[in-house]
Amino acid sequence: MTAELPLFRRFPGLAGRLPRQPLCDLPTPVEDCGALADAVGIGGLHAKRDDLSAPLYGGNKVRKLEFLLADAQARHRREVLTFGFAGSNFAAATAFYGERLGLHCLSMLLPQVPSDYVRSNLSLGLTAGAEIFHAETVPRLACRAVLETLKRPLTGRRVPYWIPAGGSAPQGVAAYINAALELAEQVEAGLLPAPHRIYVAMGSMGTVAGLAIGLVLAGMASQVVAVRVVEKRFASAQGLSELLQRTLRWLGPEVAQQVNAAQALARVEVREEFFGSHYGEVTAKTAAAMEQFAGSTSLRLDGTYSAKAAAALLADADSGRLGEQESLFWHTFNARPLEGLLSTHGLDIPPAIRPYFAGC
Ligand SMILES: *Cc1c(COP(=O)(O)O)cnc(C)c1O
Repeated sequence: MTAELPLFRRFPGLAGRLPRQPLCDLPTPVEDCGALADAVGIGGLHAKRDDLSAPLYGGNKVRKLEFLLADAQARHRREVLTFGFAGSNFAAATAFYGERLGLHCLSMLLPQVPSDYVRSNLSLGLTAGAEIFHAETVPRLACRAVLETLKRPLTGRRVPYWIPAGGSAPQGVAAYINAALELAEQVEAGLLPAPHRIYVAMGSMGTVAGLAIGLVLAGMASQVVAVRVVEKRFASAQGLSELLQRTLRWLGPEVAQQVNAAQALARVEVREEFFGSHYGEVTAKTAAAMEQFAGSTSLRLDGTYSAKAAAALLADADSGRLGEQESLFWHTFNARPLEGLLSTHGLDIPPAIRPYFAGC
């Protein structure tokens, strides 16, 4: 039995609604990045190390999977179906943990510019045993219809457990409400000062939505600087507002009496200018942020998500906006090495995704 989560201590009634499969090592550590704060002339900087969220494969998706995979099990599903871009960290993490729990994973993946990390994540999914399908557009169909399109028969007459892209269903958001309450406890315990601003990458928006709700519940005044790293049609203030409302409805009155969507939304500042021209583009600012963090912290950033949040932080430091205030960088990328988790001999690569491996 792992220690009870702050979310369940605060709302005991939720424990029955939110089954949990413990995968994470919580709380994740906070790290003083004083050298970087000094170098860029700001009051203080800490990092929340969700890159170390679990012993074998970390990052922000594992917190969400604790609830999502447990829900699939509680509903006696044998398969899960998820979506994302070809290099999706979520699809890879779902395959890694789902298959270990005996849940067979189907991933429907959208085209993405090939790169080493895209290949690594595809390899991780294939090594785990996931079935990977190539999709041209985001499916808005029902699960059964998607399977028919794929011409794939149902296994055991039960439809797979459907997980939206990035795991940003209410259960996934709840995982980040818990994460904000966890941070509040670390502040309370004196491990770090309360941050004025929290910098985090925004993709499917579940992480930001959960943090915003959790900060209001914790009575913390911190603002979330949500750095958009996907196209606007996937992440916007409007979309965030809808996700906040949907999650609060799902959580029910026990939580919704204490926080509403407008209060949570008011905690979030969406930043658009670090996206670049397409998903996954490593812009000059992204590359510079990776280098600066590598030089003065122990953090290893990725170019699609975390380094874009880092670039926003560095830009705000540079403009003088952060002044003497305390900031927090929420590290969302998996820092555990993948090499040992990947099959070393011939993977059976489905034809549709072979182009990602061309020349390897
Ligand atoms: C998915 C992801 C995010 C964004 O989280 P969302 O909840 O989808 O907004 C940030 N960083 C990394 C490394 C991710 O894989």
